[in-house]
Amino acid sequence: VNPFLLDEEHLAFTDVVRGFLRSTFADSILERAMSEEYPRLALKQLANAGLSGLIVPEDDGGQGADLLALGIACEEAGWADPTIAGLVFFTNVFAHLISSHAAPTVRAELLPGLLAGEQIGCVALTEPGSGSDAAALRTKAERVAGGWRLTGEKTSITQAGHADWAVVFALTDPTAGARGVTGFIVDLHDESVTRQRFADPGFRSLGRGSLMLDGTFVPDERVIGEPGRGFATVMHEFDLTRTLIALMVVGTGQRALDMAADYARQRHTFGRPIAAHQGVSFPIAEHSTYLEGVRWLAYRTLGLRQAGLPHTKEAAMLKWWGPEVAFNAVKDAIILHGQVGWSDELPLQAMLRDVSGYFIGDGTPQINKLVIAREVIGREVIG
Ligand SMILES: Cc1cc2nc3c(=O)[nH]c(=O)nc-3n(C[C@H](O)[C@H](O)[C@H](O)COP(=O)(O)OP(=O)(O)OC[C@H]3O[C@@H](n4cnc5c(N)ncnc54)[C@H](O)[C@@H]3O)c2cc1C
Repeated sequence: VNPFLLDEEHLAFTDVVRGFLRSTFADSILERAMSEEYPRLALKQLANAGLSGLIVPEDDGGQGADLLALGIACEEAGWADPTIAGLVFFTNVFAHLISSHAAPTVRAELLPGLLAGEQIGCVALTEPGSGSDAAALRTKAERVAGGWRLTGEKTSITQAGHADWAVVFALTDPTAGARGVTGFIVDLHDESVTRQRFADPGFRSLGRGSLMLDGTFVPDERVIGEPGRGFATVMHEFDLTRTLIALMVVGTGQRALDMAADYARQRHTFGRPIAAHQGVSFPIAEHSTYLEGVRWLAYRTLGLRQAGLPHTKEAAMLKWWGPEVAFNAVKDAIILHGQVGWSDELPLQAMLRDVSGYFIGDGTPQINKLVIAREVIGREVIG
């Protein structure tokens, strides 16, 4: 992969995906932002368009596409609607997790429903007492005949209220720290599982919530990878998800800027289009620069991952910088719209709320700056 330029194939893919996502979802962004109803039809439409298992191998029923294609889909979906981008992100990430780490029988059982947009997955790492300190888990997995019994509470889980399956991370060896964490595929329809939904400022139709596991049985074949390797798996996947999050928010920030540029051409003050005032055109120029910077660091990071090269530092850079750049772009797009920007008639406020969730989800700015500082300065000093 050439990490600096998208080739003809990726450019053609961008055109097709952009056309589909904008024509199908861009105009209905506010309906989904205001609703608590899960967008099942949209999930199905994405699946029918081949956007549910982009990096899942064809043998497992996916598209067998590369990471750049997944990045393009995330960026384009972010432009059309952050909720749709959330669907693209969670569907692809969950299907990829299953196809790359689950046993063949489990892949055969889960992937058809997931890739058809009929079943929903979520990833449950965070607990009430463990977020940034992600290895300080309390949820326990106890060995029983034929499998494990999981007990504990997972919290702040996107799609928890709607998901059919969760990859739950739990302690299999409480004395081994991060090396005692294992991933389990949990059937959320099991009667030992209860759920609680949160009232959130954004992503209302996807929802976030808690999962309470009360001795939930998980058979051996539904263990993700090797016991004790769960934390390493999460950390490796974070390098991908942090990069994809940056591309989703770049898409959303770009839509806000495109709206601001359109408005600035049409709206007149003091006898001129407002775009002719440098106080209006310069913020648009500046945010365009920042968004372009995040965009190309993100595609380069996907290129590094695809080439099997280190990219943890770059992914951490994207995770703190991307949401900040996008949030600031949306904020100034609101200001450039004047009073009509402070309204739920336009999607800008919803976009601002959705982007703000990504400051925290998948790691806060502080935690990502620690990751960068460890590489730049040294783990022995930073800790
Ligand atoms: C929209 C959204 C979606 C989410 N989806 C999921 C999901 O699907 N699955 C899942 O498992 N989790 C999910 N999360 C949870 C998310 O990963 C955690 O909230 C996040 O990792 C932070 O953990 P915490 O909330 O416990 O904050 P804490 O760890 O309690 O941190 C509180 C504050 O202290 C700061 N801080 C902590 N330690 C340090 C330090 N060493 N140095 C400097 N500052 C520090 C943090 O940066 C933060 O500002 C989601 C969160 C959000 C907001």
